[in-house]
Amino acid sequence: MEHNDSDSIYALGSPLGRSALAVVRVSGLHLPEKLYAGLSTTKDKRGFFVRRLSLSGFSETCLVLSFPKPLSYTGESMIEIHPHGNPAVLSELFSWLEGLGIREASPGEFSRRAFLNNKLSLAEAEGIAMGIEAESKEQLLALEDFRGGRLGKKINKILSLIEQLLVRVESQLDFSDEEDVNEVASKEVFSSIKNANKALGFLITEYKPFEKDVMKKTIALTGKPNVGKSSLFNCLVGEKLAIVSKEAGTTRDVVRKRVVMSGFDVEIQDTAGLRDVASNNIEEEGMLLAKSAAKAADLVLHVVDQPVDTSGLKHKRDVVVVLNKCDLHEGVVDDSVVCVSAKTSVGVSRLVEKIQETSLRSAPERLVSERIYKRLIAAEKVLSLSGGGEDFFETSAQALREALLELKEIYGAFDNEKILDQIFENFCIGK
Ligand code: GDP
Repeated sequence: MEHNDSDSIYALGSPLGRSALAVVRVSGLHLPEKLYAGLSTTKDKRGFFVRRLSLSGFSETCLVLSFPKPLSYTGESMIEIHPHGNPAVLSELFSWLEGLGIREASPGEFSRRAFLNNKLSLAEAEGIAMGIEAESKEQLLALEDFRGGRLGKKINKILSLIEQLLVRVESQLDFSDEEDVNEVASKEVFSSIKNANKALGFLITEYKPFEKDVMKKTIALTGKPNVGKSSLFNCLVGEKLAIVSKEAGTTRDVVRKRVVMSGFDVEIQDTAGLRDVASNNIEEEGMLLAKSAAKAADLVLHVVDQPVDTSGLKHKRDVVVVLNKCDLHEGVVDDSVVCVSAKTSVGVSRLVEKIQETSLRSAPERLVSERIYKRLIAAEKVLSLSGGGEDFFETSAQALREALLELKEIYGAFDNEKILDQIFENFCIGK
């Protein structure tokens, strides 16, 4: 991505479409005089004003907010224009701004400038991006830890531990001829590296990378033909979407329906029945689709219609065994199987509860940006590779140096355009 940080930039900060108001942000170290003149204000005047802005042949009444530098989000002079949320008005406004030499911002460019002008730390910038993308209250709560800098403190502790170790190892390199000293020292260093690595390991299990689609799940119904998958699918989605038939092999394509369950966006999939021999090529193709759907699903509901041996499946975390047609058979099955009747709906609400318990719970995990998570993993990996051997001190020093580089990148001890791009390109335009 090409950036010229001295350009003046603008972006729409609200969604495109019709709305009562829209927000257009403008930022630049030296915003054009004509912009201030057009908005009947001056560059040092801080505040908010109602202004009638003349566009090509019509005027638009806007609320105008002015933040002279350096007291603004980006640290540059910023103007916010709030016209009515009308795409035609916005298009004219953008043409006017472009005519003044102000270009459209790329994603995250406002926050990138805020970072470059020391208004935001990298962690804060990433916290903002993740906050915009968060999909649930749980995710917002989990982000607080990250934003509050607690993760930073933990990483810094490990960082200084590794730094001290590196100093020790490097000083040892000078005594490489003295074998007695070496042996004792190498044992100590080895166990200290292990400890640092353990501390990293704890962080990696404690924090989960922030995923945008965490509230989206897929559930696939699988099983032999005629066990009642399509009937159960219709029951779960509350609509007659899949064909129910006594004839085996009627479902070929994967039938999908999105429903909302416990605040999750769930796609339920009905798949072709799996049997040993397909009656024709189309059924065979359907069986292949079914297998790959089951593989990719977050949860598989494996449907049977007789109490058969499914012990191999029961212990899998992402498989729930469902015994359908409970109206036809009596007798007790063990607790790990959910008994339902798609015909009478008996047991369906228990099945929904089981689905919620199994995979629709958003654990209040601690969240971290994908970029930071990858650096932690990389640091752990290089440290775990440092083993014994003849050149123990040399290889350890190298591993410690590499781990330090990975960890230092997290909070910006670098001067690297590529990393800045990595962070800010994930932002939406206007932030
Ligand atoms: P699929 O091939 O696994 O999708 O099965 P279907 O949903 O097409 O159902 C096969 C047959 O079983 C149909 O005749 C359904 O009416 C019947 N069936 C499905 N669920 C039940 C149930 O709970 N009880 C009874 N008695 N019959 C059912």
